[in-house]
Amino acid sequence: MPKESFLLDQFSALPPREVGLAVLGYPIKHSISPQLHNAALKVLAEKEPEFNNWKYHKIEVHPENLSDALPKLAELGFRGLNLTIPHKVEVLPMLSSMDEQARAMGAVNTLNWEEGGWKGYNTDGIGLSRSVREVFDRSVKEFQVLVLGAGGAARAAVAQCLFEGCENLAIFNRSMERAYQLSSALKENGFEQKISLVKSLSHFPHNAEQPVLVINATSLGLAMDDPAPIDLSCLKGEVFVYDMVYNPPDTRLLMQAKEKRFPHANGLGMLVGQAARSLEIWSEREVSIHAMSCAALQAMSD
Ligand code: NDP
Repeated sequence: MPKESFLLDQFSALPPREVGLAVLGYPIKHSISPQLHNAALKVLAEKEPEFNNWKYHKIEVHPENLSDALPKLAELGFRGLNLTIPHKVEVLPMLSSMDEQARAMGAVNTLNWEEGGWKGYNTDGIGLSRSVREVFDRSVKEFQVLVLGAGGAARAAVAQCLFEGCENLAIFNRSMERAYQLSSALKENGFEQKISLVKSLSHFPHNAEQPVLVINATSLGLAMDDPAPIDLSCLKGEVFVYDMVYNPPDTRLLMQAKEKRFPHANGLGMLVGQAARSLEIWSEREVSIHAMSCAALQAMSD
């Protein structure tokens, strides 16, 4: 199973029957996506041997080289790409078309080669919602949602919750201006629901009859010594906590949730969910979440 990352120049045209898939990012060495996808491809190949010819790589692409890399990868035989930091927004003008949900999210993490061009999708939102359902046994629609953050991941989370019909959604971010921009952009994209912007958690519009789902979409937690983005003591009633960070697996926010006995989960399930949806788009097959989850856990313990 290939774990090493490549530079684009290291590839020549793929063998005629090979279908190339890859994640592009800068940096990219840390990515465990190849392990997830190659595990699920192995399962697909058990029923349909042609999937033995599908190979998923990780390729380091500097932002300045993305516009050259995309046509070159298509020419070499790549048919599906994932994009990670810092390409998810910068790629938009390079696409031939875009899925409606990705358009609303203003970012894409998945490209599929369709009708001679790269079509952009965003599977981060569906990855989050699948994971929330799996770990908490409820859909996002059943919660009052408090999204922490206003960057790309927060936008995917907010848009997904609105797509799924959440009625009560609030955003809390360090920069209020950025939270305001996020909310305005989503309203311009046709979402009728009200999004509240919360200046301080004492203003969180709490409805005692509905559980609260806190989604950490800030980058706080990525460093071991990062503080928690909020103090969970500020929230009343039944609280569930989902942290998009998965490495390290136990952030300060999740430690607080554990102490308070709130149901909680890190973002590894979201990573698996977004990967599974990407592979479904490329392969048009049902994908083994189980194989991807096992590969993710294995990769995290390597
Ligand atoms: P962005 O850089 O776009 O956004 C970062 C966000 O974090 C902003 O809201 C920013 O606030 C906030 N932030 C950063 N530093 C601080 C701080 N010191 N105090 C308070 N807030 C802070 O990143 P992304 O949206 O792309 O990613 C956010 C997180 O989601 C990352 O941890 C990423 O790893 C994770 N993620 C996980 C995925 C998964 O599959 N599990 C998928 C995608 C992302 P401000 O606007 O004020 O700068």
